[in-house]
Amino acid sequence: MHEGLEGKGAREERRNAMGGDVRRVFPEGFLWGAATSSHQVEGNNVNNDWWDWEQLPGKVAHGDKSGDACDQYNRYRQDFEMARDLGHNAHRLSLEWSRIEPEEGRFDRAAVEHCRDVLGTLKSLGMATMVTLHHFTNPRWLAAKGGWLRPEVVGLFERYSRHVAVELGDLVDLWVTINEPMVYATQSFLFGVWPPEKKSVVLAFRVAKNLAKAHGRAYHAIHELLEARGMRPLVGIAKNMMVFDPKRPESRWDRAVASKIDRIFNKSFLDALTTGVMAFPLVRRETDPKLAGTQDFIGVNYYSRTLVGFNIRKPQTLFIDMAVKEDVEKNNLGWEIYPKGIYRILMSVKEYGLPVYITENGIATTDDKQRERFLVSHLREVASAIADGVDVRGYFHWSLVDNFEWKEGFTPRFGLVEVDYKTQARIVRPSARLYSEIIRTGSLPQERLQ
Ligand code: BGC
Repeated sequence: MHEGLEGKGAREERRNAMGGDVRRVFPEGFLWGAATSSHQVEGNNVNNDWWDWEQLPGKVAHGDKSGDACDQYNRYRQDFEMARDLGHNAHRLSLEWSRIEPEEGRFDRAAVEHCRDVLGTLKSLGMATMVTLHHFTNPRWLAAKGGWLRPEVVGLFERYSRHVAVELGDLVDLWVTINEPMVYATQSFLFGVWPPEKKSVVLAFRVAKNLAKAHGRAYHAIHELLEARGMRPLVGIAKNMMVFDPKRPESRWDRAVASKIDRIFNKSFLDALTTGVMAFPLVRRETDPKLAGTQDFIGVNYYSRTLVGFNIRKPQTLFIDMAVKEDVEKNNLGWEIYPKGIYRILMSVKEYGLPVYITENGIATTDDKQRERFLVSHLREVASAIADGVDVRGYFHWSLVDNFEWKEGFTPRFGLVEVDYKTQARIVRPSARLYSEIIRTGSLPQERLQ
């Protein structure tokens, strides 16, 4: 529903319905599901850079290693049936490049067959599939060659994407080429807290450029290959969007850095995919006309807000200081719970004029009541954005099951469903039932809103 196509009356009606449990707030055909990524849930992804890194002492909290993770490599049917029973009509997952192409140029038949089983299972359960091609992990052979720092990665990613499109294209409804390009670029190459632990603004934005180029090539490859087979693929990225507010709102400098970091972190990548102009700080600006218009939708991953201030002593982070607001509710990782942020972000991506999917939104908490409040308060803001004309077409909660939270290991609990890592038992949390109820009615329960 693009702005202007529907009358003010319809919008008003939905606004009024937001608090009610009678009329639908979320449009018919809305995709409801949860999201995961291969390395965080499958277990035994022994052939990628994260696996190697986890084995080194002191890298992951409490010495955790992904190990068997949630063993979803073997338990996918059970997990997907559980999601379907909870009313999910869609699921987002990622493919593990290191399984599909375990050695450079050698594509593994059995791995592809496994992916066909996984995606085929979702299809047979009547669920739509959203498939991510890159979710932070890289095949060991790629990492050994310099990974995303090297220009060759663009062609290598395209070749992998082509293989996947040909082999699995009939089972994919929505494609996400790259998950959170700016998070990957900054965590791994600017802050140096993920492999390969580089700390350089220049390297981080060089990586961002390569990610943008790789996305562009994959976008065209998927379209070309699948359109030749009579399909109409929808391709985008999942973009982590963070609200940046000034630490001291009265300071002109803080306001300036907040708006600058918003442009760099939230918008520059989306802008590159919109205009073809890759304009990232401290790296050569490049234009690729073929990169322009390479998103069929915008995927939004939203979690929190950060306060930013100007700090002359921090040239290595572009003179920016970051902090979390004090005296506010937080999750177990210390991130502010800021529901209004999802509304602000959704309104801010309206400028691109594309359909939007919330590709991730969730909370690390051991207090499931807090997760329930999180769900309702964030979905209320999503409903508000829809009422205000944002074309939101789906919501994928992070995550279906508790999983391996990267550097933080297994302690954070993001799942609608609890995992007992000793037995691999799944225990459905009350928040999963609440989500199920929201999906069934397409609206938010009145009593929860109060
Ligand atoms: C990532 C997930 C991660 C989640 C929670 C996102 O940045 O895509 O892999 O688990 O946030 O931190």
